Amino acid sequence: MKMAALYWLVFLGSLCIGTVESAGYLYRMPHHGDVCYYEDLKNAHFSYDEENCRRPQEWCYLHKCWTTCGSTRRQSPINLDTSEARRTKASFQLYNKDKRVPAFTYNNGHAPHFSVKLNETKRNITLKLKSVSGRNPNEEYILADLHIHLGKEKDVGSEHSIDGTFYPMEAHMVFYNSKYGDISQAKPKDDGLVVIGVMIKAKRGHDDDDDDNNDNDDEEEDDGYEKGDDKERSEWEAAWGHKYTYTRVCCHRNYGDYKHNGDGEDYFSKKCYKGNRKCKVRFARTLSHIMEKYYDKIKEYHHNEEEPKEIKDPEDLQCGEKPSDKTIQSECTRGGGHPEETYDIHCGISPVDVLPLDQRFYTYPGSLTTPPCYESVQWMVYKCPIKVSRKAFKALQHVEDAEKKPLNHHGVKRPIKINEFFNVSKNF
Ligand SMILES: [Zn+2]
Repeated sequence: MKMAALYWLVFLGSLCIGTVESAGYLYRMPHHGDVCYYEDLKNAHFSYDEENCRRPQEWCYLHKCWTTCGSTRRQSPINLDTSEARRTKASFQLYNKDKRVPAFTYNNGHAPHFSVKLNETKRNITLKLKSVSGRNPNEEYILADLHIHLGKEKDVGSEHSIDGTFYPMEAHMVFYNSKYGDISQAKPKDDGLVVIGVMIKAKRGHDDDDDDNNDNDDEEEDDGYEKGDDKERSEWEAAWGHKYTYTRVCCHRNYGDYKHNGDGEDYFSKKCYKGNRKCKVRFARTLSHIMEKYYDKIKEYHHNEEEPKEIKDPEDLQCGEKPSDKTIQSECTRGGGHPEETYDIHCGISPVDVLPLDQRFYTYPGSLTTPPCYESVQWMVYKCPIKVSRKAFKALQHVEDAEKKPLNHHGVKRPIKINEFFNVSKNF
């Protein structure tokens, strides 16, 4: 198989002659006009390798379903600039946020995912969002997936940056609009998805070999939220009610009878969130445990990604445009198939595994950060990070990608996008 792949490389290289000197060169520098291109979506693979013709800047040419990646309308990730973001009453309600739902993990060759087993989740404990700012308040968004991004530089792994600062990791909890039936149908729709982003730091190591000591010491740490086992935590949660509007809790806590009226932009009192208030960074014990235990199980990537890619004149690809609805329906909606190798997570997953204590967040209309890059995501990105164990961080770094390289070799992180408009709100 290796030999066959090599022949293909040579063959592809020879198609690309001109300024190309060797087959290997193809991977570093596709020359003008010719780019990597896949006919078949099943074989299409993107990369974070800057030296590869499948690098993030070329995603829009890789497949006709991925042309949206070249848009400059509302592509993610972005830098979240606190001073430019509008202060609004942005909020959402998360139902059953302390409940655990059945889930499994798998490696798709780009990142390890935790997927909710939706058909095994009891209806009454569906993890869902409602009243999402920027979306129809009556529509429900159901949690389907949790995954974590990281970088090739260990401190620069989040996809979003906040006032120019990156974090080592960024968790994404992906919710889909229930009116579309399933996530693959919802993905391309303008109001299809809501993604909650949470920045993650790695706990400073004590007994491992890491010399990392650049923690931001001006942040205070508060482990009160998840100091014990799940039961203990649930009780803490219950004290605040299982269902509430996130932003309001903060206000209630500090300003018991703070009342609002009207829909004004300055609906939130400045008193509620002091602009310079330090983040409370909690240690996410359960998430650390899940990462440590399950990333190891799916560390290896077994699928063969040796299908040849084809070279084609990309002129007929409308880079920057979304594929037509007809194309999306007939060619871009991958069937629900998952790679065979999955592992059940015995304790399931829950949003409280990931959510920070501090409820300040940014929100903006953006996109998926991987192909097909559909502009269908309302982003909710928390200002304050959580922390996981160093062991959990390392387990993530060492998961293999489709090229059998550890994920920290190239990172799992799309570069920041610059859009025509900056349309970010904040709830503080
Ligand atoms: Zn993501």
